Amino acid sequence: MEFSARLLRTVPVAAGTLWAEFEISDSAFTFEAGQASLFSFPPDHPLDDRSRTFSLCSAPEELPTVSIATRLTPGSPFKKALKGARPGQTFLIEEASGDFILPRGEGPKNLVFLAGGIGITPFRSMVRSLKKRKESPFRIFLMTVNRTVDETPFLSECQEWVREEVVAWVPVLTKEGLPVGGSRQERINEGLSRILEMAGEDSLLYLSGPPAMVDAFHQTLLGQFLVEESRIRSEMFYGYLSR
Ligand SMILES: Cc1cc2nc3c(=O)[nH]c(=O)nc-3n(C[C@H](O)[C@H](O)[C@H](O)COP(=O)(O)OP(=O)(O)OC[C@H]3O[C@@H](n4cnc5c(N)ncnc54)[C@H](O)[C@@H]3O)c2cc1C
Repeated sequence: MEFSARLLRTVPVAAGTLWAEFEISDSAFTFEAGQASLFSFPPDHPLDDRSRTFSLCSAPEELPTVSIATRLTPGSPFKKALKGARPGQTFLIEEASGDFILPRGEGPKNLVFLAGGIGITPFRSMVRSLKKRKESPFRIFLMTVNRTVDETPFLSECQEWVREEVVAWVPVLTKEGLPVGGSRQERINEGLSRILEMAGEDSLLYLSGPPAMVDAFHQTLLGQFLVEESRIRSEMFYGYLSR
């Protein structure tokens, strides 16, 4: 099923990263925090390739507004058109889907969220959703991996979550402040080591972002940190090519 979504505003949330907020007037549209939807420009739009899948980065409790965030990949006609879209413009959004959601029922209560760059989007939805509840059964340990502070999406919101004690946060920067001879992988390993120690062995690990980053986290967790596969959940942002 497809729903009509009216663009309310677009705002930059990091260098080269755009946040877009929409209103969906049909109350039949619902989703679970962490799910994704296919967004399309309407059929009369001149773009050839009119659709992309995005994780919803707002909480279900914020409906009828929903939001997404994306890297403005150079050379992407879709992203260029999104950046140029004006408030009031209509988009189509498909029913949300996906099982990258908070655990249901009994099970580990410590959740480690590993966000590779723009991979923070489903986690933002989950954290905002948990904040709306009176009591959260979960303790959230967030690790973000970005090249620089400027490129870190939702930086001030992450800082706010820390102040409010909603999450414990380990921000890893892989380019800025790297000592001579220091490697990106060393930084990531240090971050993983810290976050895993904080969350403990009985935690679930959620990985999200472009496939190359998620794959790298996955391999490191299995190979170097000897984490059992059954503790890991992954969301791959297919469509991001390695560039
Ligand atoms: C479950 C899921 C959640 C996602 N969440 C986000 C998000 O929150 N933020 C975000 O920025 N991106 C997200 N993505 C990725 C997003 O759908 C785009 O693929 C990505 O943003 C790159 O788009 P582009 O226009 O820059 O790529 P381009 O370079 O323009 O596209 C490269 C090529 O890949 C094709 N393509 C694009 N998307 C896909 C796809 N999903 N599957 C297969 N082929 C594709 C295009 O048609 C084109 O031929 C998500 C993807 C998935 C599957």
